[in-house]
Amino acid sequence: MDILCSVVVPMYNEEAVVSETYRRLTEVMEKTGCSYEIVFVNDGSRDNTAALINEICDRDERVKLLDFSRNFGHQIAITAGMDYSSGQCIVVIDGDLQDPPELIPVMIEKWKSGFDVVYGKRISRRGETFFKKFTAAAFYRFLRNMTDVNIPVDTGDFRLIDRKVCDALKRVRERNRYVRGLISWLGFKQTAVEFEREERFAGETKYPLKKMLKLALDGITTFSYKPLKLASYIGTLISLGSFVYLIYVLVQRIFFPETVQPGWASILAVSLFFNGITLLMLGIMGEYIGRIYDEVKERPLYIIKETRNLNEDK
Ligand code: UDP
Ligand code: MG
Repeated sequence: MDILCSVVVPMYNEEAVVSETYRRLTEVMEKTGCSYEIVFVNDGSRDNTAALINEICDRDERVKLLDFSRNFGHQIAITAGMDYSSGQCIVVIDGDLQDPPELIPVMIEKWKSGFDVVYGKRISRRGETFFKKFTAAAFYRFLRNMTDVNIPVDTGDFRLIDRKVCDALKRVRERNRYVRGLISWLGFKQTAVEFEREERFAGETKYPLKKMLKLALDGITTFSYKPLKLASYIGTLISLGSFVYLIYVLVQRIFFPETVQPGWASILAVSLFFNGITLLMLGIMGEYIGRIYDEVKERPLYIIKETRNLNEDK
């Protein structure tokens, strides 16, 4: 039986790596002996990425392109790539060669031996700042404790999924997506292969701190209510404490009026502390409410400007 394997590659301002990524991917895929297609998703790049991929599409029919109307973000880009790929197995890989394509044959072997999801687990990261390594490691562990879903640590979106996992994922149309978590949530038979995360081949990260924070918050909010629970726990504790202190203050005022001091510092301290806590709790609620708002609008996840080498070319 001939197997078709789809490789989904999100690309955002990656003109420096497109050709090399294409070269490495074809080289590896040729060796696997499977038929393959490469689905590039151009996530609203402002540089030459789209033109370069278009050139490749002219030469090679196995290369497909989904061209977004603007930047929708990495998680949405890989979702679109999975939506449009037609293989029996689908590999999602970063476009900057940080995830080694040479691991794909290993993933395919595991898949053939009966696993539905084979995810790449990073045992080390090269060429990344201490800050990124530290925050990433801390976040994965934090997320694991926050949720009941078993989301593997140190695992990005580099993975192979079976067609049936992909079809199941198509039914999950959450907007603020944390795809690797959703795939864990789906279940199925999952396993890991370990790898060393390489340095970026060229260019620089397209995940500035702001996007990293957004992804982290999406991960936490879509899989856990614990921050909300925390708000009510802290609220309960503080109001109990305040009540006890209130009684003390009243007793002082009524029975020992001469001990009451001018209260500038105490009043300010109490007011600043409580206002801070209140605003923090409002902020946590806001994160959830904003996401509820995104959901109820039911906008499409992404808008495609153009496709190449796909049957349903528009
Ligand atoms: N990416 C994307 N849209 C974005 C940001 C990133 O499609 O808004 C792509 C990017 O081109 C790359 C992958 O997502 O192929 C991972 O991004 P990056 O390498 O910048 O992240 P890092 O490895 O630094 O975490
Ligand atoms: Mg990268």
